Amino acid sequence: MSIIVQKYGGTSVGRPERILNVARRVLDAQAQGHQVVAVVSAMAGETNRLIDLAAEVTGEGRQPTEREMDVLLATGEQTAIALVAMAINAMGGKAVSLTGAQAGIETDGVHTRARIANITPGEVHRYLKDGHIAILAGFQGRTREGRITTLGRGGSDLTAIAMAAAIDADLCQIFTDVDGIYTCDPRVIPEARKLDEISYDELLEMASSGTKVMQSRSVEFAKKFGVRFEVRSSLNDHPGTLVREENMSMESVVIRGVSLERDQAEVTISGVADHPGNAGKIFGAVAEAGILVDMIVQNVSKTGLADVSFTLNKADLARAETTLKPVLAEVGDQVLLEAEDGIAKLSVVGIGMRSHAGVAAEMFATLADAGVNIRMITTSEIKITVTVSEDQIETAAQTVHDAFGLGGEITETGG
Ligand code: ASP
Ligand code: MG
Repeated sequence: MSIIVQKYGGTSVGRPERILNVARRVLDAQAQGHQVVAVVSAMAGETNRLIDLAAEVTGEGRQPTEREMDVLLATGEQTAIALVAMAINAMGGKAVSLTGAQAGIETDGVHTRARIANITPGEVHRYLKDGHIAILAGFQGRTREGRITTLGRGGSDLTAIAMAAAIDADLCQIFTDVDGIYTCDPRVIPEARKLDEISYDELLEMASSGTKVMQSRSVEFAKKFGVRFEVRSSLNDHPGTLVREENMSMESVVIRGVSLERDQAEVTISGVADHPGNAGKIFGAVAEAGILVDMIVQNVSKTGLADVSFTLNKADLARAETTLKPVLAEVGDQVLLEAEDGIAKLSVVGIGMRSHAGVAAEMFATLADAGVNIRMITTSEIKITVTVSEDQIETAAQTVHDAFGLGGEITETGG
């Protein structure tokens, strides 16, 4: 008998009638002859509500201990699994809920962002063999000593992928409130097309440039353990997008998708003395302040002075400027820091880029034709990213999406 792992996110169980919908879907899957494990997130908004409650009782400027935070946050998923199991049982099915600890998910002791160390799924197997549907709490585990831990925001995806690997599931389905992975955000490009399949690396690159359908850590885990999974909607029966290892035919599609990220800012530090250690000083200070930077560009110095630019979230810009002020004097005599917000990133992603020449040229020429000025450019093996003025991002995305033929019916040879 085949084993199927289904994951339902917070919106899929956000209201009682949605929970009934999940119960019906899970029962359907069982009726089709599968053994079913359903991993469930907290009801939509619940984790945030718990975080707010913690802040209220702790008081401003103080942090609750992370141990207690985990005890608190784990209740969100615990509520949801009990309700889903009850709904299934009320429909005449046989379901049991299992917390992370009961399902054998052992983690390290890093509270609020624990890593899975080991899974012993004996209890899950036992219930499945017994004809039960196992309803598993996402996002949580326990340390070897028995402390409750959570896996970081969005961690239910990881629970599903890791459990699918541990029990060698035949299929892993991530149910969410969108139909799958699209060639671009359909709110920006209405004719964006749902992809039949995408490789792990492409999905990771799309995620890092704004297409957040799944927690990246889960995709990395899936890649490492070769877990194929399907992203699809819990609200209809449309087929979703299969996320898998790449195959030869995937390379025939040059660009899989276009992704964009708004609310970015650029920082340029010019006049940095060209000797070892300066880049380390700049980015060391930024890292110490816990600020994430993204595109980093430095030009080759012709005059003994270099310019260093990077992007970051607009929300972190003021803090980055404050952090960098004292560092400037250490990296040159006449260093200047310029910052600008109102920036957005646009990326094209596709493993086909490795074997097709001229993708960058085509992207840049297309943007020029549309009157869009490119500010920064960075590339990886399968991604080209540019920054543009935020008020031009929609035009830019639309033109590039059109130029690479992503909107209309293109034939994909993959399968
Ligand atoms: N409930 C957790 C969160 O909101 C985990 C999840 O939804 O995957 O981050
Ligand atoms: Mg979620």
